[in-house]
Amino acid sequence: MTEVLYCNLCGTRVEHRIPDGDHLPRHLCPSCGHIQYFNPRVIVGCIPEWEDGRILMCRRNIEPRFGLWTFPAGFMELDETTAQGAARETLEESQADVEVGDMLAVINVPYVSQVYVVHRGRMRSAHHAPTPESSETRLMSESEIPWEQIAFPTVYHSLRFFFADRASGERRIHALDLAHRPRRPRDREVSTGDPPPV
Ligand code: ZN
Repeated sequence: MTEVLYCNLCGTRVEHRIPDGDHLPRHLCPSCGHIQYFNPRVIVGCIPEWEDGRILMCRRNIEPRFGLWTFPAGFMELDETTAQGAARETLEESQADVEVGDMLAVINVPYVSQVYVVHRGRMRSAHHAPTPESSETRLMSESEIPWEQIAFPTVYHSLRFFFADRASGERRIHALDLAHRPRRPRDREVSTGDPPPV
């Protein structure tokens, strides 16, 4: 559980206990009664497709997984939809202007308390460029995807779903639960190219 010492409303030292009527320990303020809840975070992403069928990939310029490849994705902000968040992240990470389309995948990652929501997208122009978050942006065909250098299992599985659907002509919404934390994900992905464990 996230370590919190003080109430974020009044500054009193909090207690760590199960509130009446609840079933899990929370950070409870004995002075003002405020409870600080911690809930999973939503990560929104987009696979931007250019008109020639290539998709836009970004090389991470930030930790974690510095130097590995992903499609644009990031934490959803308050007051936006998943599609709006995916478009915003795409612009922030690659400068690309994307029309976000239908949903491709919802992936639960309980071992880091995250939910990934990934959309398909169409680039409105061919423009893309590096940003503070991406050292390199590149349009790639399926055969050019660096499967052994993908940043996260969620990205890997989403790309597999995307290309499988495109090959079959289906447009499904894929639901996946990643049950186990990869043991040594970076080593494993880089050295063997095996699919990340599910
Ligand atoms: Zn308080």
